[in-house]
Amino acid sequence: MLKILRRIIQDVNAAQTLSEALDIVVSGVKQAMHIDACCIFLIDEAHGENVLVAADGLNKSLVKKVRLKLGEGLIGLVGERAEPINISHAASHPSYIHYPDSGEEFLKAFLGVPIIHQRHVLGVLIIYQTEERCFDEAEEAFLVTLSAQLSGIIAHALATGNIFGQDKTQVTAKGKVLTGIVGASGIAMGKAHVIYRLADISAVPERKIQPEEVAAEIGLFETALVAARQLIRSLEENMAAHGLPEEERALFDAYLRILESKSFVQEIIAEINKGNWAQGALKIVTTRHISRFEDMDDAYLKERAADLKDLAERVLFYLQSREMNARHFPEKTILVGEEVTPAALAEVPEGKLAGIVSGKGSTNSHIAILARALGIPTVLGVEGIKVTELEEKELIVDGYYGQVHCSPSAVVRHEFAALICQERDFDNQLQLLRDLPTETLDGYSIKLYVNTGLSPDVNRALSVGAEGVGLYRTEVPFMTRDRFPSEEEQRVIYRQLLQAFLPKPVVMRTLDVGGDKDLAYFPIIEDNPFLGWRGIRITLDHPEIFLVQLRAMLQASLGLDNLQIMFPMVTTIAEVEETLRLFRQAFEEVVAEGLAIKKPALGVMVEVPSAVYQAQSLAKRVDFLSVGSNDLTQYLLAVDRNNARVANLYNSFHPAVLRALLQVVAGAHREAKMVSICGEMANDPVAAVLLLAMGFDALSMNATGLLQVKWIIRKLTMQHAKRLLEEVLQMDDAVEIQRHMEQALEEAGLDSVMRMGK
Ligand code: PEP
Ligand code: MG
Repeated sequence: MLKILRRIIQDVNAAQTLSEALDIVVSGVKQAMHIDACCIFLIDEAHGENVLVAADGLNKSLVKKVRLKLGEGLIGLVGERAEPINISHAASHPSYIHYPDSGEEFLKAFLGVPIIHQRHVLGVLIIYQTEERCFDEAEEAFLVTLSAQLSGIIAHALATGNIFGQDKTQVTAKGKVLTGIVGASGIAMGKAHVIYRLADISAVPERKIQPEEVAAEIGLFETALVAARQLIRSLEENMAAHGLPEEERALFDAYLRILESKSFVQEIIAEINKGNWAQGALKIVTTRHISRFEDMDDAYLKERAADLKDLAERVLFYLQSREMNARHFPEKTILVGEEVTPAALAEVPEGKLAGIVSGKGSTNSHIAILARALGIPTVLGVEGIKVTELEEKELIVDGYYGQVHCSPSAVVRHEFAALICQERDFDNQLQLLRDLPTETLDGYSIKLYVNTGLSPDVNRALSVGAEGVGLYRTEVPFMTRDRFPSEEEQRVIYRQLLQAFLPKPVVMRTLDVGGDKDLAYFPIIEDNPFLGWRGIRITLDHPEIFLVQLRAMLQASLGLDNLQIMFPMVTTIAEVEETLRLFRQAFEEVVAEGLAIKKPALGVMVEVPSAVYQAQSLAKRVDFLSVGSNDLTQYLLAVDRNNARVANLYNSFHPAVLRALLQVVAGAHREAKMVSICGEMANDPVAAVLLLAMGFDALSMNATGLLQVKWIIRKLTMQHAKRLLEEVLQMDDAVEIQRHMEQALEEAGLDSVMRMGK
């Protein structure tokens, strides 16, 4: 059954339209389950009806014609109850309604399962049999499983497609709109530039070419083939040099034989001649061969399917690299992809990146943090995004409401252009605050620092008048290399940053890889990377890496004395003690080399619940604490910060997070130590009011959000902020807290920053 299920889902994913996908489901189910009919009803919200959208074994001409009021008939009952209904004789059920000419008068057994996505019933999947019997448990379980897998695909299509014969998106005033999660605020208008996952044969889109392009595509394919052959040969030589025995190397010969086989090459050329682009032709031929291998009974031959895929992806890699070099990025590029990675941003020529739209990711993914640092409006987690459909389309990225407007009308374009102007005016107003103190109306001050690293955009940080760097993510120089950077390489990079901010303080965080931050040359494969080998856990296990980094930071600070160092992901006091021991060792070594270095202030990040409860014990041992609210929220609420599916549960206004923050501030202040916060929460002007009231000494955020936070702090009194904090601490729900804050600030006339700083 699992095999059948996989095949149906695979075929559904390959379908070009939702109608095609639904037809595949009904015919696939009918055939696999040996039943007499299968059909699907979907809810048309606009009309409050269940609509027949696909049928096999029933009168197909009724598709889109049979429409039932919600709750009507057996179908309505399945939807209302949101659970399967399995009956041996449908016609004798009181809810049964007969449809003339449907062909169902001969059908007796009925099993309907709801199609549910994120708690919403989208429709019903039904199977029938002429014989009077109840479907067994295995059949019911199969249908429930299939329906659960289909629900995501259907949800997306319903949100964007025109399944009910009328384009749902045309009836909205805003045109076709995709919805996701806010990654970075702001509005961008531009043209989509789609990036495909490199060398993923299944992700290659269909693309037709003109007859005059055929020769060039064949040329591209042949060049890629030569490069792939060369690669395999050099791999083989390499393996031989490493002493791999000849019989093991036979695999490479087998690979070469496939790449040189006339049939494989000719088949691809034939597909190109039919008008497919080279990548598509490669996909068609490879898929054909792979499914032949997979259908074989012999285990050895089955395995060859994987080899073939691997090979095809190597050829594809060369085809795509050629393409990448030749890529033309529009003047205002909206980068679109199933998963837009930080590396993909680097490919866009400077000044051309206007917006980002990604199928994966959530507000606190590193791509979002990077986008906010760069001030690029971004929408992430756009479920089921069909990127090929967006290629070269005009898009508007609304980074306030998490929406993407595709091919917008002139009216919509005009409306957003006006908003962009408003944004610009507000920014100009904010610029006037640059050199003014961050002080409440009743004279309380707080320091505002910037986070850098993902984009070491020092100029931007200085241009907004930051009082220093509260978090420098040192992972970046590690990510942009193909090996660990040397001590001297690190020293040079760190010194540049310290010098740029002199005499303002710069807090450098030691290497924080693991979780979702990978180093290509140091892969960490784990089932639960966020609960695994991360941050300080790695560097304590590798003192040779840690000591080099500490020494480089210390050497970089020679004569500048504005360095501070902090340690990520600390969970135990023992980790702090060991960290301090290694720090002392590094410090003594550097001093012994004759460098007159001033000992920097040392701090610990509070990002896991255990550190909250031990805040005072931690503060006793170091000079400052800094809350990493991104991870702290993730760990307190057990919500993966990257997972769009649970993004609605990720909320730093959760009462548990607010109480944890208060406890950290109290712990640090009892030891008379400074406490700051450097997670994304500090970037939100509404949250910043609460953080100010809690007594944080400093907030560290993206340069792009700093002036908005300064604006709001300068507009209220500490007394007002404290009153709001007291009020929200009486509340039990994150959304209620957020609403209360927004409403209160609106009443105080401070809401202009809310939309801009959302
Ligand atoms: C955090 O977790 O809040 C933090 C600042 O660190 P990062 O986002 O780099 O994990
Ligand atoms: Mg963190």
